[in-house]
Amino acid sequence: MTRSIRPLVAGNWKMNGLKADIAIAAEVAKGYDTVLKQGVDLAICPPATLLFTTSAALIGARIATGGQDCSTQNSGAFTGEVSAAMLADAGANFCIVGHSERRTLHGETNATVMAKAEAAQKALLVPIVCVGETREEREAGKALAVVKKQLRGSIPDGATAATLVVAYEPVWAIGTGLTPTAADVAEVHEAIRAELGRLLGKAAAAGVRLLYGGSVKPSNASELMNVANVDGALVGGASLKADEFLAIARACNG
Ligand code: PEP
Repeated sequence: MTRSIRPLVAGNWKMNGLKADIAIAAEVAKGYDTVLKQGVDLAICPPATLLFTTSAALIGARIATGGQDCSTQNSGAFTGEVSAAMLADAGANFCIVGHSERRTLHGETNATVMAKAEAAQKALLVPIVCVGETREEREAGKALAVVKKQLRGSIPDGATAATLVVAYEPVWAIGTGLTPTAADVAEVHEAIRAELGRLLGKAAAAGVRLLYGGSVKPSNASELMNVANVDGALVGGASLKADEFLAIARACNG
């Protein structure tokens, strides 16, 4: 953790959730007690269809919401796309961009991810820009080089601690139950902070929240959240269970 940074635990529901599952968000709101509220921010990123209702259900609890992706465009003839302005209008505060599932399954390049991050910022959403290496890249000793290249290609110019969150999500750790060692997470997060310093200036980079994501669970959250330069978590599977998501938030709360 970074002492001066208020941590963020964000849940990525991916393509899961029907109306009835807003009960999960309501359960999280119930468990977000005064102690947790003092120390950690929470956000839930449901599918776009549930964003409006989830945002309305969470506003009283001061839990943020986010989209999982956005268009590079603001509006117009882009059938099937959802713009950042629409997400904001539905109550979102954040938008995940460049998740590895988007980069891999939808061919998103760093340039696309940057355009989406810029679109999110324009709509006053805070983009959660995801970066991370594949297993082959890690085994070839290229993890740091890959992550730095993704940052250089996908972080908008002039971003600040208030307008950017970065999530380090090793592709091989997402949904697999595998996690890097604490030392490996520390090495990558330190490199991310340093690269952001080169891109945005040291002062801005020092305050940007750097989340770790990839198989975070209640059983490993304390170890991962206590790594230097880890300022919270991006949680997939475990965010669909209110008790697990809250346990991770507690681990983040020191
Ligand atoms: C994710 O999809 O962003 C993620 C981190 O998934 P999981 O926690 O299930 O590995």
